[in-house]
Amino acid sequence: MAVARGGTRAAQLDLFGGPAGGPAAGNDVGEREASATVPWTPPAPGLLDIERVYVEPAAREHPRGQAILARFPDAERIEVASHWRIPELHGDPEQAARWNVTKRTSLVLGAKRDVGCRPYERSCDFVAPSVANGCAMSCAYCYVARRKGFANPITAFVNIDQIAASIRRHAARQGPKPAPTQADPGLWVYELGTNSDCAVDAKVSDNIADLVALFRDLPHAKATFATKYVNPDLLGYEPRGKTRLRFSLMPEPIARVTDVRTSPVRARIAAIDDLVAAGWEVNLNFGPVIVTDGWLQAWRGLFREVAETLSAPARAQLAAEVIFLTHSAELHEINLAWHPTAEALLWRPEIQEPKVSGTGGHNLRYRLDHKRGWVRDLVATLREELPECSVRYAF
Ligand code: SF4
Repeated sequence: MAVARGGTRAAQLDLFGGPAGGPAAGNDVGEREASATVPWTPPAPGLLDIERVYVEPAAREHPRGQAILARFPDAERIEVASHWRIPELHGDPEQAARWNVTKRTSLVLGAKRDVGCRPYERSCDFVAPSVANGCAMSCAYCYVARRKGFANPITAFVNIDQIAASIRRHAARQGPKPAPTQADPGLWVYELGTNSDCAVDAKVSDNIADLVALFRDLPHAKATFATKYVNPDLLGYEPRGKTRLRFSLMPEPIARVTDVRTSPVRARIAAIDDLVAAGWEVNLNFGPVIVTDGWLQAWRGLFREVAETLSAPARAQLAAEVIFLTHSAELHEINLAWHPTAEALLWRPEIQEPKVSGTGGHNLRYRLDHKRGWVRDLVATLREELPECSVRYAF
């Protein structure tokens, strides 16, 4: 096994099955690009075998764009006017059948136009501008695929300099956090991953490494993102407690059907101790909770596995959110074209009801008269099996 810089961490990497890597210290994005010293291990074959990169002209000229293109030197480059309008990726119904091939072989490079931060209240206080949109993984319930249409492979945004500067200015304007919120008692929390999986994005570019380094030095703020991917490179990022990674977990038998192309649930749990030792705050995202025969017993088994696997220090810093499944008729129709087996678990109109989301979307959730009791039962089970784990919210 190769040992990367900062090699004391490397001894812990057998768990991840790969070598470590991490960024050089410092926040200066331009300097980091120019020095090209950021260790990086290529994505595992099968996750990303990039054959074509759709690239906006300005993204191709940007240092971050050039660094990303250098990671995939054999890929065909296709110039596009806008990352939002690539008909062969986002508008072609025939693409649904090639869902996973598209995610594995296509990458888009563009620039993020709106780099503002916006308030949000769940597991964060603010949503930071995205550094990517789309995902290489294929969870059957994922709304990210709907953002642009069909499989929506990763679009990486190259203007990380503008994104980082925007976050820095916003955090400076906030000053110290005056009172605890649901997200955190003492620091403003910025969500990095609303439109992508940041641990996979870190295989494409140094964007996540740069933001982890940025938050390391912001006195009143921390970053957070949820992930279903175990990326050993993150062990070298040195977050120093200022980035909270939230592993999404669900019982393995369900995940094997719905969490397509993700790291196995057991691997995610097994990675937690090492990440905590490497300076990450690691929390859990229990969800989506998918109701099937025996679901509550399966969740008890998962909570027990977490309790038995984690070290005492890792258990002591745990907190979780619990989110029951939300689905939609639109996604149901698309999924039938590429993954009908998952729809047998997700599409349960006899126990679901319509719901209009905060953004006006027409969704389906479990009927409230059932769901209230299910939420109560699941949280009670969590408290029995993993009493150290506080619950940020459950719905
Ligand atoms: S890992 Fe997250 S962003 Fe990626 S497909 Fe799954 S739910 Fe969507």
